Amino acid sequence: MNREDTPFDLVRHPLKVRRLTVARVRDLSPRMRRITLGGPELEGFVSLAPEDHVKLLFPAEGQSEPVLPVVDERGEIRPPPGARPIARDYTVRARHVDTIDVDFLLHAHGVASSWAARATPGDVLGLAGPRGSRLLRLQPAWQLFVGDETALPEMTRRIEETPPAVRNFVVALVEDTKDQAAWPELVRAGVETRWVYRADAGGAGEITKRLVDIVRAAELPETGEGFAWLAGEASETAAVMRLLVRELGWARGRVHASGHWKRGVIAHDHHEPLG
Ligand SMILES: Cc1cc2nc3c(=O)[nH]c(=O)nc-3n(C[C@H](O)[C@H](O)[C@H](O)COP(=O)(O)OP(=O)(O)OC[C@H]3O[C@@H](n4cnc5c(N)ncnc54)[C@H](O)[C@@H]3O)c2cc1C
Repeated sequence: MNREDTPFDLVRHPLKVRRLTVARVRDLSPRMRRITLGGPELEGFVSLAPEDHVKLLFPAEGQSEPVLPVVDERGEIRPPPGARPIARDYTVRARHVDTIDVDFLLHAHGVASSWAARATPGDVLGLAGPRGSRLLRLQPAWQLFVGDETALPEMTRRIEETPPAVRNFVVALVEDTKDQAAWPELVRAGVETRWVYRADAGGAGEITKRLVDIVRAAELPETGEGFAWLAGEASETAAVMRLLVRELGWARGRVHASGHWKRGVIAHDHHEPLG
C-alpha cells in the first residue's frame, strides 16, 4: 500500500531488545490476567498507538531466562547463534512511568498462555519492539469494534484514547459472563457493547455466524463516517471483514483487520493475508 491507500501514518522506532521483570500480577477475570513489567531496560520505551504490539520472548519449559535475539547492524532482529527465541505478539495495554501492562488471555494451550498462568513477581521476560506506531490520520465520527479477548486490550486502549464525542459500538467475544469483568471500559457512556459468549455457541462455525449476524443487524449511524477495527481469530475476523467490505460496501481503507491467532496454529503470523 502507498500512503494514499492507507489511513495510517507510520512512525518507526529503533528496534531494541529488553530484559524485563514481572512487577505485579493481577487477575481481571477468571481468564484474563494483567501482568505489569518493569526494570531498568524499559527506559526509552515508546508506545504511541493503541495497536502497538511487541514481541514478548518467553523462557523455554524448565528455564528461567528467555533466549533473547540480537539486533544486527542493519537494525533487524536475528536469533543468537545456536539458539531459538520463543516469541509471541502482545499489545501494550498501558504505559506507566516505569512499567507497562500486558493483558494475557489464559487459553491454556500455548507457551505464552502457560507462562502467564504461572507468572509471579521477579520472573524474567524479554521484549522486542514495537517496530513502529501506526497513527490514524482521520478522526472518525464513530467506531465499530469487533474482537475477542486478544483484541480487547488494544480496543479498550483505543476507546480510552478517543475523544469523548466519538461513539463506539463494540461486539465483544468472550468465554462467558464471568469474563465481562475484565472490561469495565466497555460499560460506560459513549460505548454500546454487545457481548457474544463462546460458551453458548456450538463450535467455531457457530461463533463466526453469530459475529457476522450481529454485525449485519447492528444499527450503526447513517451520518458521519465510521471506522471499523476488527481483530481476533483469523477466520472469524476474515468473515467479518468480508461482510463489511463485500456485502455492506465499506471502503477497505476504513477497516483495519488483524488475525491475532489462528485455530490449530502455533505462533500464527498476523501479517498473513486474511483472505
Ligand atoms: C498484534 C497482536 C496483538 C496481540 N495482543 C494480545 C494481547 O494483548 N493479549 C493476548 O492474550 N493475546 C494477544 N495476541 C494473541 C497472541 O499472540 C496469540 O494468542 C498467541 O498465539 C498466544 O501464544 P501461545 O504461546 O499462548 O499459543 P501458541 O503456541 O501460539 O498456540 C498454541 C495453540 O493455542 C491456540 N491458541 C492461540 N491463541 C489462542 C486463543 N486466544 N484462544 C484459544 N486458543 C488459542 C493455537 O491455535 C494453537 O493451537 C495478539 C496477537 C497479535 C498478532
